[in-house]
Amino acid sequence: MTIFQHLMHGALPASFVHQDDCCVAFMDINPMSPGHVLVVPRQAVVTLAELDAATRAHLLDVAVRIGQAQQHALGSLAQHVLVNDGKAASQTVPHVHIHVIPRYRGDVLKALSHVLWHVATLPWQRAVSDEKRQRLDAQAVRIAAALAAAMP
Ligand code: AMP
Repeated sequence: MTIFQHLMHGALPASFVHQDDCCVAFMDINPMSPGHVLVVPRQAVVTLAELDAATRAHLLDVAVRIGQAQQHALGSLAQHVLVNDGKAASQTVPHVHIHVIPRYRGDVLKALSHVLWHVATLPWQRAVSDEKRQRLDAQAVRIAAALAAAMP
């Protein structure tokens, strides 16, 4: 089982912003910027090519809506929507997922240092303090509320 399956089954803690029959979305435990979300299909495959077209389309739709919700809830201006599609593309969790990474006004240097730190320390499991989990939970609640408000 991948770590993302453990999160989906409730065996490990996660700060969810969205859940449906096809996918879940939750806060990245090691955000590259505040509000960084992962969109993960329930089907545990490694790459996008292993998913059916409808699931791929749904994941992208959820990722786009989460980007909009991040902007409304957190004041971000835009977002990176990114997939490390396989181990050789720096994928560290072998369960396909879309990163939705918000960008904020004037955050270039901060974003760059976060990316460098994130990549350099990926092999190590990081402890999650209660304070960090509370912060992730609070961001998840705000993003989930903005998502719900935007539902047709
Ligand atoms: P990638 O390098 O594209 O495979 O990204 C994997 C992402 O999963 C990284 O950004 C990690 O910080 C994130 N991650 C790993 N474990 C957890 C976890 N338990 N909860 C939330 N995010 C996680």
